[in-house]
Amino acid sequence: MLYIDPAACIECGACMDACPVGAIFPSYELPDSLMEYEEMNARYYSDPEHRDYEQVANAPVVREFNEEFTATLRVAIVGSGPSACYAAEDLLSTKGIDVNIDMFERLPTPFGLVRYGVAPDHQDTKIVTDRFSSLFRRKNMRLFLNTEVGRDISYEQLSEKYHAVLYATGAPGNRRLGIPGEDLPGSHAATDFVSWYNGHPDFSEHDFNLSTGRAVIVGNGNVALDIARLLTADPSIREGSDMADYAIDAIGNSNIKEVIVLGRRGPAEAAFTSPELLGLLSTAGINVTVSSDDLENARPHDDTGAFKIEVMQRAQTQQDSSNNRNIVLRFLGSPVEIVGEELVTGVRVAQNTLSEVDGIMTATPTDKVELIETGLVLRSVGHRGKALDDLPFDESRGVVPNQEGRANTALPVYVAGWIKRGPTGVIGTNRQCAAETINALFEDVASGRIVDEDLSHRDNLISLLPDALDEKAWKKLDRHERKAGRADRKPRRKVTSIAEMLEVARDAS
Ligand code: NAP
Repeated sequence: MLYIDPAACIECGACMDACPVGAIFPSYELPDSLMEYEEMNARYYSDPEHRDYEQVANAPVVREFNEEFTATLRVAIVGSGPSACYAAEDLLSTKGIDVNIDMFERLPTPFGLVRYGVAPDHQDTKIVTDRFSSLFRRKNMRLFLNTEVGRDISYEQLSEKYHAVLYATGAPGNRRLGIPGEDLPGSHAATDFVSWYNGHPDFSEHDFNLSTGRAVIVGNGNVALDIARLLTADPSIREGSDMADYAIDAIGNSNIKEVIVLGRRGPAEAAFTSPELLGLLSTAGINVTVSSDDLENARPHDDTGAFKIEVMQRAQTQQDSSNNRNIVLRFLGSPVEIVGEELVTGVRVAQNTLSEVDGIMTATPTDKVELIETGLVLRSVGHRGKALDDLPFDESRGVVPNQEGRANTALPVYVAGWIKRGPTGVIGTNRQCAAETINALFEDVASGRIVDEDLSHRDNLISLLPDALDEKAWKKLDRHERKAGRADRKPRRKVTSIAEMLEVARDAS
């Protein structure tokens, strides 16, 4: 959510032109479905602390490098998701220094979680890839898709060929619940399910039990809401999206009538954000219910929590009996066991109490345990970063330990995005995160930690990586997918196998 202070806004409209997802409207042009956002914006500025702009006002608009560096600065970026792209954009737009970037991506497709994590019905969010695509066409930037660092090119080779290596590898793993039955068939990490419906080639063969009448999602972050919405929404929402064809069919034929989204704390502490909650409530074909006891006993600590509760209360009055699919937002429940013999048949949930520990509302399970019958449990308790060769790794947080993006190592290695700060925030959060890392990188160029030497003679990547796909190959695949979707008025029909991706991308015709 971007807030705009009505007292400071001069209504020049520049932000509307600049917004990559077309999400900014003057209040008098807000569509009815978005009216609540005006209220959210106004309430945000009722807190005087939110009018402290010094940090923003003092930030430079264009980065300039004013020190001596005669060589062309060669930077390798590993990963092609939002943090990788924002970092590349920041590097290339810096004035006063020549920069060349090579970006490496394991898959034949770029954009990481924008392609494989963002919900397929949230096409507005994906518009940001237009901006990233223009980056790929810059003459001082090369894309090496289908290239895995550690397999096709070693970490040592990268450190020889580049002045700096920046890892933006995200958080491809998932957190564990650590309870009995977690690995029973029918219990899956939510991240696997998201990758499956988004057509990720590593997950396209996965199988999920959609013959069950009820699914339980553990955790109530935005990922949980995405899944609950896509499992229950009117079929037209999936059909008009870029969800993988097999997932559209499987979910369309599923028996799921009820999805329980289970939060361990109360409604005021729900991890989902208000815009996502509002989006869920305005989705065709779904009823959202919340226990009135949960709502009455909720004690919001801030305006954000209070607003979420108000929206949930309003939802109670908006039930439509013609909707035959239901999402239940359940609170104050922790799974203690996933039960079943060969397949999940249920989940045992302990009722929790809430208390404040070190200023944070914390859930504690009681002895009161209830069995919820279900054949599908999706564990949506967060992503987790993966350790990178030769770099230190913080096992508890799943990140590379770093100082403002500078990895804790003697080499000029940097991190950005979820591998740097953990799996939080929205796409735009990565812009500031990447900017902080690029600041650190330029500080190291200025201080001489990054040595001013010409490395261009070490560039033999084209012969070293004959199977890599470049920007032109990706464009071919991109056009193919868009064209395939056009007849059905879909944004694209995704290719979901690596073999087919390579075939399409390499087809000279
Ligand atoms: P998340 O927001 O961190 O939510 C994780 C959920 O898991 C929370 O409800 C958390 O509860 C719960 N949880 C963690 N450990 C648990 C345990 N042991 N037992 C029971 N529950 C547990 O993670 P996410 O939904 O994966 O989202 C990741 C990030 O991507 C977030 O920043 C999210 O906003 C962002 N995202 C944004 C969008 C969007 O803007 N449209 C869409 C998808 C994702 P507690 O709150 O009690 O810790």
